[in-house]
Amino acid sequence: TESASPRPIRQLSDQLISQIAAGEVVERPSAVVKELLENALDAGATQITVKLEQGGVKRICITDNGRGIPPDQMPLALARHATSKIASLAELENVGTLGFRGEALASIASVAQLTLTSRTADAAHAWEISGSHASTVAPSSGAPGTTIDVLDLYFNTPARRKFLKTEQTEFGHCAEVVRRVALSRPDVSFSLSHNGKTVDHWTVNDIAKRSAQILGNEFSGARLPIEAAAGPLKLNGFIGLPTASKARADGQYFYVNGRFVRDKLLMHAVRAAYEDVLHGDRYPSYVISLELDPALVDVNVHPSKIEVRFRDSRAVHQFVFHAVTRTLAQTSATAHGAAPS
Ligand code: ADP
Ligand code: MG
Repeated sequence: TESASPRPIRQLSDQLISQIAAGEVVERPSAVVKELLENALDAGATQITVKLEQGGVKRICITDNGRGIPPDQMPLALARHATSKIASLAELENVGTLGFRGEALASIASVAQLTLTSRTADAAHAWEISGSHASTVAPSSGAPGTTIDVLDLYFNTPARRKFLKTEQTEFGHCAEVVRRVALSRPDVSFSLSHNGKTVDHWTVNDIAKRSAQILGNEFSGARLPIEAAAGPLKLNGFIGLPTASKARADGQYFYVNGRFVRDKLLMHAVRAAYEDVLHGDRYPSYVISLELDPALVDVNVHPSKIEVRFRDSRAVHQFVFHAVTRTLAQTSATAHGAAPS
């Protein structure tokens, strides 16, 4: 039976706060991969290597050639709510980096064994630091850039570990995250290996080639370039012809200011534009990149930042709908003229 007196209210420890936050920020290995890739891009990397073991649960090791972290800043990089990316609310509202919450590394370090190795361009050698309460930085070796090595994910949170799926399923999610990021940055080379075997390797390229590599020949043989601009909105990419539609919605990549999003409003706008040319059980493939003034979109809606909120969502919906409709209409006009069916 419960005692009548209330339990005292206590301040949670930083470690426990991070572990609770980890449930949202890094709910599975692919979320760790996403956070680390975004950090590498924010650091200006042009070359990123992803090594996974056992679906990422045993190991996620990501190396970049970005600007690195000076040794005196390394403990802060692992601290909660510590970031180099914003310093004020005004900066948050105009954020141009993928990250800004300053909680990914702290969250990951609270549920795994994390080692950070980094070297800035002007440093004589690299430095490294391990663990979630790490404060000692030790000399290390390595080229300029940063390596984050994450071992034994959720080793200390067995309840979460139980929710993980098979190694292949977790690897599949990780590989999809790498593809999403790689599609957004053809100017960066990526390689992905699993259990010691190279799975994907994309050299620096343009979006036409990168999307052909990632979405396959079927898409590259039946796609239309799309481009539109209106006021503060700019859009470009490739959309698949109705003939290249799929039974699954797994070829849909929408980016807002370089960030992959799965946004109901945007998906609806594209879907609606395809309505007349596609059966309800078929899904178009596309790689669409929308750019707008960061002040016109709120990316701080969810910790994973996969949803966004537009200041003028109606205008965005119409813009996307019309751009896709117009692009599809051009081809059906030429197709009908050339070969009426
Ligand atoms: P956020 O990305 O939101 O700032 P993180 O916890 O992901 O928070 O990273 C904390 C800080 O560590 C970053 O702001 C950045 O300064 C530094 N950092 C993390 N990863 C890298 C990297 N790969 N290269 C350079 N700096 C990094
Ligand atoms: Mg980050």
